[in-house]
Amino acid sequence: MPAMTSHATAPQGGAQATRTALAWAHTARFLTTASQLDQLPGNDLPEIAFVGRSNAGKSTAINTLAQQRQLAFASKTPGRTQHINLFEVGPKDAPDAIWADLPGYGYAAVERAAKLRWQKVMADYLALRRNLSGVVQMVDSRHGFTALDRQLLEWVAPRVGNGEVRLLVVLTKADKLNRKEAAASLRAAQEVLAEIATDHADVGIALFSALKRQGVEDVAEVLQGWCVAPPVPAAAAEAALPDQPAG
Ligand code: GDP
Repeated sequence: MPAMTSHATAPQGGAQATRTALAWAHTARFLTTASQLDQLPGNDLPEIAFVGRSNAGKSTAINTLAQQRQLAFASKTPGRTQHINLFEVGPKDAPDAIWADLPGYGYAAVERAAKLRWQKVMADYLALRRNLSGVVQMVDSRHGFTALDRQLLEWVAPRVGNGEVRLLVVLTKADKLNRKEAAASLRAAQEVLAEIATDHADVGIALFSALKRQGVEDVAEVLQGWCVAPPVPAAAAEAALPDQPAG
């Protein structure tokens, strides 16, 4: 069976683990912004990218996870909507992760040149960003995966498939669904993700509502877990000798 975590990736860490994860997420602070990949600072810290269609609820989810009102605000300011905004997470003197808020996509009104530019930025980032260790894809739980969401999945699928990058699909605005609709939304997302699941892939899905604070703890725990134990790509895991020093 592929290592696809079904619906809520519910970590079993208990109350203490939840508090630790929320406190960790709360430390997120703005680091820098860049309009293309080669302007991003190189970094060895595990990086988690947040991606999603415009209006999927990405900024709200980031702010909710960080328990800050304005954190992802930079991504909304004119001139920066096409930028990659980086946040540092963890202790001030020893950050242990980077969050990368990637440009929202799918604005009907955006002209062709901007769409092509977005494609290049996203495809390059997802394929080439060396320290990328996880992707959080925000999908509106009422609408499910759109063509652009699938396109984005395709760009990152090779690295998810070989275990180099983890994937968590966050089904946003779950407060707008009743039980039956929520179950259907989960099922539909599972079907899409089954297409990219492999034995090495670490893929999860979580229902999320910023409004009702549903899924916030689970997602925070998953993300912190990714950074405590960054993924080991399949090839590296197989090549590693038993007596190789860890880390
Ligand atoms: P972004 O473009 O992906 O960053 O989306 P925003 O975070 O700006 O959210 C888009 C819209 O969805 C806003 O009107 C939000 O108030 C709304 N929204 C975001 N999260 C939720 C949620 O959990 N529940 C509901 N009902 N609305 C939400």
